[in-house]
Amino acid sequence: MFCSSCGIANVDGVVFCKSCGAPFLPFFTSSNRLIAAFLSLLIPGLGQAYLGRPGALRWFIKTIIGYVLFIIPGLVFHALCIFDAISVPKPK
Ligand SMILES: [Zn+2]
Repeated sequence: MFCSSCGIANVDGVVFCKSCGAPFLPFFTSSNRLIAAFLSLLIPGLGQAYLGRPGALRWFIKTIIGYVLFIIPGLVFHALCIFDAISVPKPK
């Protein structure tokens, strides 16, 4: 991936640019994702809806069903939902 501040190519997965030190982590670079993660914490899938991503309703249903049937899978789906909201979508 390329640094958005200096344009130098960096290895995927690094946290800081090797040239200028600019951060790469999504939560550093986009406060929208923090907001999305917080929204998904309140209501599963809301963060995805906020980002305009597909699957918001699916996350909601999956998490609620998980909570209703078994508490633990609900927590797991909820955590995955928040992680999904904060992560950068993979390029197609
Ligand atoms: Zn840089």
